[in-house]
Amino acid sequence: MSYKDLVEFIQEKYQTKEFIALHEPVFSGNEKKYLNDCIDSTFVSSIGKYVDQFEKNIAEYVGAKYAVATVNGTSALHVSLLLADVKMDDEVITQPLTFIATCNAISYIGAKPIFVDVDLDTLGLSPQALRKFLETYCQVIDDKCINKTTGKIIKACVPMHTFGHPCKIDQIADICNEWKIVLVEDAAESLGSYYKDKHTGTFGTLGAISFNGNKIITSGGGGCIITDDEELAYKAKYITTTAKVPHKWEYVHDMIGYNYRMPNLNAALLVAQLEKIDTYLENKRELASMYDNFFQNSDIQFISESENAKSNYWLNAIILKDEKNRNEFLEFTNNKGIMTRPIWRLVNKLDMFKKCQYADLSNSEWLEERVVNIPSGVRT
Ligand SMILES: *Cc1c(COP(=O)(O)O)cnc(C)c1O
Repeated sequence: MSYKDLVEFIQEKYQTKEFIALHEPVFSGNEKKYLNDCIDSTFVSSIGKYVDQFEKNIAEYVGAKYAVATVNGTSALHVSLLLADVKMDDEVITQPLTFIATCNAISYIGAKPIFVDVDLDTLGLSPQALRKFLETYCQVIDDKCINKTTGKIIKACVPMHTFGHPCKIDQIADICNEWKIVLVEDAAESLGSYYKDKHTGTFGTLGAISFNGNKIITSGGGGCIITDDEELAYKAKYITTTAKVPHKWEYVHDMIGYNYRMPNLNAALLVAQLEKIDTYLENKRELASMYDNFFQNSDIQFISESENAKSNYWLNAIILKDEKNRNEFLEFTNNKGIMTRPIWRLVNKLDMFKKCQYADLSNSEWLEERVVNIPSGVRT
């Protein structure tokens, strides 16, 4: 297989010789109808039936008891961490191979991330590496996980389901339980992805999903928090809507709240998008399977869903032989109008997070040099 073959393959699948993006939203359902309804009713802002409708529909879709819509996925993560009782100077374990938002959300609270390696097959947090880190550096005292190197409390763990591929989340959940750490899932990329038939984001105490323009379904910008805990769901709604004490006319707020609510306009778009998700997912899984076939017998490895996992294949990813090969590949494909992109620079290497603690990150480093995303949007 040559890179040229791949370019032609992708152009054929998308039936165009024009620029092909990594991911683009598709609006083929009731989007305009619901948006017009918002405008006609004047309910375009933070109150309206589509927000309630969406929260009900998404909770049902993922199999969680409650969902709270937010202004974006980052705010959903931020509030989930607050509800997990993460406070200033606490520590939160996550993976270095993630989008920056995971670590930004941790930092908004004044907490610090600790970086633990990922698995090569899932690209997500490795349960073995997590256990090893905890056994080497930590101790449970009075039901708290204490990091012996810093003396700080490790409050939460935030694994991320990279590109929609579920990590080994059941094992991670068990380890977190054992070590008295709250599990918050960054399921921003994994709507429609399941591990052992259970939707990602529902294994922990709280999960965060994103509906940014490049995600599986979009509200323009948006996110949501999912949980089975009634009290946490109530609190999530409360602090994302300025912590206003319910009253017919009084405006009283009893804590510092956030204006993180999703406007009705965005929720209207999202209700329509969610109605179509099954066809989008089917279309994407079909493309992934065609890629998988295409890369058989080539020296490029296509990343397919691992054991026990059903992936949404949000962004298809391949592994090149080495960094030099990767750069040649990026150069060639982007010059031909096929958008391809290397995986994120490891977060522990970025200036803001350089001083954070990290364990052995050999898998993350190996993947950082080799993984590239290729066009993955729904073919229309
Ligand atoms: C997209 C994304 C987010 C944040 O979502 P926004 O809606 O863009 O704020 C968080 N984490 C990961 C891993 C993401 O990919």
